[in-house]
Amino acid sequence: MPKYVLGAGSLRELKGVHPDLVKVVKRAIELTTQDFTVHDGLRTIEEQREYVARGASTTLASRHLTGHAVDLVPYINGKLRWEWPPIYAIAEAVRTAAVELNVPIRWGGAWDIDFTASTDPIDDLVSDYIGRRRRQNKKAFIDGPHFELPKALYP
Ligand SMILES: [Zn+2]
Repeated sequence: MPKYVLGAGSLRELKGVHPDLVKVVKRAIELTTQDFTVHDGLRTIEEQREYVARGASTTLASRHLTGHAVDLVPYINGKLRWEWPPIYAIAEAVRTAAVELNVPIRWGGAWDIDFTASTDPIDDLVSDYIGRRRRQNKKAFIDGPHFELPKALYP
């Protein structure tokens, strides 16, 4: 028996999300050592405008608008927690699920790499990403709960 299952709210958030990404999320909840909630699947343009206004997103062209992205947030003692160690555990489960199902995933903890093909420890991926951005004199926008299907393969 898997340790965790997706709750009704999570399943609702998955409505309208691309089936390949849904498959990965459903497999990830079976594999994960950290419970999570699908906090955000499909988003409306109005919701996206609010996200950008509060700095939670940097783009109005979000993959959430087209059903190509999900946010998986740690669920601990009945609360959503945006905290790193549990976020790493969820990302690990997503990577394992993506490899198993052969679905390419782009992760908000290291936007510029092929996450599914990566083999480094999850926390190294984040610090390496921050280092690369720093060397390019660019800001690193890290969004650990965010997973999306790459646009090049899923337009
Ligand atoms: Zn997101």
